[in-house]
Amino acid sequence: MDCLFCKIVAGEIPSRRVYEDDVAIAFLDIGPWHPGHTLVIPKRHLADLAGAPDALTEIAPAIDATAALLRDRLGCDGMNLLSNQGAVSGQEVLHFHVHLIPRYARNAGMRALFKKEANIDVAAIHRRIVG
Ligand code: 5GP
Ligand code: ZN
Repeated sequence: MDCLFCKIVAGEIPSRRVYEDDVAIAFLDIGPWHPGHTLVIPKRHLADLAGAPDALTEIAPAIDATAALLRDRLGCDGMNLLSNQGAVSGQEVLHFHVHLIPRYARNAGMRALFKKEANIDVAAIHRRIVG
């Protein structure tokens, strides 16, 4: 199957992983909106929740664990959880994923969520989380 995130699960495309369990992985988004922007995905291919109503339950432990890890390592002040469902919603990668977006007091509020911060060093953030 020609799916970017299936290739990331298989290790055919590199990613900066921060968490893995039997059914899910979490890795840093290549184009973060805020430092620590992470995607949690099921290992099995599912386009979205429409065809798999249990998918959110399946990756819930991974979401909880990854959120706790980001809070602990990055000291963020809050977090947005977001999942685009279907192309019309803005979903670009058609493999179900939940965005975990750490938020910081210096850049607060819903509107600031969509204002991408400049010059985020993803490699350095990864070292802070997994190091
Ligand atoms: P969507 O719009 O589908 O909800 O979000 C897809 C996300 O995947 C975007 O935030 C985008 O930056 C991220 N993304 C796209 N390609 C890659 C990739 O090759 N590696 C990683 N780590 N993230 C990616
Ligand atoms: Zn896939």
